[in-house]
Amino acid sequence: MAMDTTLEGEVESSGVSDLDAMRHSLAHIMAEAVLKIFPDAKLGIGPWIENGFYYDFDLPRTLTPDDLQEVEALMRDRIKTASPFERVPISHDDALKLFDDQPYKKELIEGFASQDLSIYQHGEFTDLCRGPHVKDTSMVGAFKLLSVAGAYWRGDEKRPMLQRIYGAAFNTQEELDDYLERLEQARQRDHRKLGKELGLFTFSDQVGPGIPLFLPRGEMLRHLMESYVREAQTRYGYEHVWTSNIVKKDLYLKSGHWEHYGDVMFPPMVDGDNTYLLKPMNCPSHMVLFNSQMHSYRDLPKRYAEFCTLYRYERSGELSGLTRVRSLTQDDCHIFCMPEQVEEEFGRALDLIREVLGTYGFTDYHVQLSLRDTQGGKYVDDAEKWLLAEHALRRSLDAKGVQYTAVEGEAAFYGPKADFMAKDVLGREWQLSTIQVDFIQPARLGVEYIGEDSKPHTPVVLHRAVTGTTERFMGVLIEHFGGAFPVWLSPVQAVVLSIADRHAPYAAEVANQMNAAGLRVEADTRNERLQYKIREAQVQKLPYMLIVGDNEAAAGTVSIRDRTGTKRDSVPVETLIAELVELSRNRAG
Ligand SMILES: [Zn+2]
Ligand SMILES: [Zn+2]
Repeated sequence: MAMDTTLEGEVESSGVSDLDAMRHSLAHIMAEAVLKIFPDAKLGIGPWIENGFYYDFDLPRTLTPDDLQEVEALMRDRIKTASPFERVPISHDDALKLFDDQPYKKELIEGFASQDLSIYQHGEFTDLCRGPHVKDTSMVGAFKLLSVAGAYWRGDEKRPMLQRIYGAAFNTQEELDDYLERLEQARQRDHRKLGKELGLFTFSDQVGPGIPLFLPRGEMLRHLMESYVREAQTRYGYEHVWTSNIVKKDLYLKSGHWEHYGDVMFPPMVDGDNTYLLKPMNCPSHMVLFNSQMHSYRDLPKRYAEFCTLYRYERSGELSGLTRVRSLTQDDCHIFCMPEQVEEEFGRALDLIREVLGTYGFTDYHVQLSLRDTQGGKYVDDAEKWLLAEHALRRSLDAKGVQYTAVEGEAAFYGPKADFMAKDVLGREWQLSTIQVDFIQPARLGVEYIGEDSKPHTPVVLHRAVTGTTERFMGVLIEHFGGAFPVWLSPVQAVVLSIADRHAPYAAEVANQMNAAGLRVEADTRNERLQYKIREAQVQKLPYMLIVGDNEAAAGTVSIRDRTGTKRDSVPVETLIAELVELSRNRAG
């Protein structure tokens, strides 16, 4: 639920664009219309916002879609009358009298102490308002009412829940249509909607909020995503480890995580003298693992990777689909290296990230380089190390021609970091990969290697995630591909459709043959009409439908229809298998 706490009276009139004034004027026109239908409505606030406007109302009943239509029609009537917006200064006391039957407005006025206020009037409507507004009600561009949502008065969950009507507004009908089209595309691609339709994942109150449950096709998708990163990491010299889900709290006290991230950990489990935590991050465990063996400088860099599910106590109000969950599986890695290896290791991680994002079709991205605030603050002192690391990161990014912007004061408490912001097909930006340099934790946890001088030294650790977490990245991928995953990533790559009952054995035989070749193929041999089966496969966005009837069964072929509508008749099963195996192996489509 949106929690907008902007107060209309607090909006300064300076720096307001004409479009903002237009949107805000529409909010007034909407409030007038709502009052016509509900004369006893109590009014909250009605600011302009990005792409439009809203107004909050306390109403005797819940609004319906029909109500919105009626409100919109009344608004259009008012727009036609070209009624002027008129500003009238008003004293504090007079304002209190004027809005005597409007408790929310009265509360706002009381909050303004004794300063001079103003009201704006048009038609039959008066609002406490600083403006600015357009000249008259005809000058409001193109608009459409979108939706109603609940919103607590002043964003406070202890205050009454009001009904907020949202509208979109732009200068021209063309811009509005454009925006509505983008909204519709995003709605069609919403991963929560597609996750359900494609049978990928679900949530249940019986299990708990923010804990996604993956159905067979969703688990296959996870498996394919993680196998790919695992395969790529192995090629880049990473070794995979496993360090389990619970850890003694003492370790996080020592590492500094309890101090810095204690509020996102689940409550501790006490077992006699020991207190355990659900693991919120892998770093300390990997450092303990590194310490369990002796390492010489010749062994470095050592790269430990792990797909372990971690647990973070996100507030339940902030949970949303797969993008914010309480159980999350990072494609996590810790690289133990000597200070002089930071630049090369950072570059190697950059290459890996670019390869993986590129395979998924994320080629438009930029890097945010987060540096410490030179004023000090929460950053641990060791100016020389910080400077060396910052230079190493910049050199590496420059050498690889990666665009980046440096931001001071955004670094983690243990060192500078680079975050990848990638654009999806709708142009929305997602923060995916991250590489962080760490000078602090290895020393705190006594991590050591034996140097060329035969003395113990503390390595630098790079923390690194390629896709971030499997869960969130899956949400991003579902929306990026609109559920139509490339062949290599599709949980089901093809479905064999029998035309009549007598073709069922052949359909099953084709599916078996393809599965034996390592593909993921199902047979739909139900006694349903072919058109019905095709329609269902299309809704599932399966890459290929393989239709088999008398001719195909006799010749050992299939008739292919792909999800874009392209048809190929009488293709030998072996030919198709060879094509799909090749496509999957290269992750080429
Ligand atoms: Zn106003
Ligand atoms: Zn880490």
